[in-house]
Amino acid sequence: MTDTKHEADERLMQWLRDAHAMEKQAETMLSSMEERIENYPHLRKRIAQHLKETQHQSQRLEDAIGRLGGKTSAIKDTAASIGIMFHTLTTTLAGDEVMKGLLSGYTFEHYEICAYRILIAGAGVLGDTETARICRENLREEEDMAQWLSQNIDPLTTEYLEREENGSERAKR
Ligand code: MG
Ligand code: FE
Repeated sequence: MTDTKHEADERLMQWLRDAHAMEKQAETMLSSMEERIENYPHLRKRIAQHLKETQHQSQRLEDAIGRLGGKTSAIKDTAASIGIMFHTLTTTLAGDEVMKGLLSGYTFEHYEICAYRILIAGAGVLGDTETARICRENLREEEDMAQWLSQNIDPLTTEYLEREENGSERAKR
């Protein structure tokens, strides 16, 4: 029984570190999108807001990891950033950069939602109420962002296609 508890604690710690690397990845992705978007101010504004939230999310995770006696993994965080750099490069080469950003943003938020739901369930099993609490805070912000993006799929697609149809330079980003 003691061994089982130990293994589960280690697993929860690993999930927290994974989530921290995920948030570092989100930070790189969102700041690059915020810098590059020129002609979709409402999208840019919402991304800027979520970038700030993301930085707080990282901090909450670092606090939780520290409280449980662990450390964040610089190697894992770096690996995540390299992955996202390649992703950004391919996205920025696309003529419909803003739409590719919407696709990856919406997908990423759902990845985050699932990661936090797993963490909340795991923390619940271990009776770790503080970890569950901070993960719920992060989860709520991911759900809000996912919902905002969802509501903007139709208008953004319309706006994008209208600009492209008019030969506007402002379509791409
Ligand atoms: Mg996040
Ligand atoms: Fe997010």
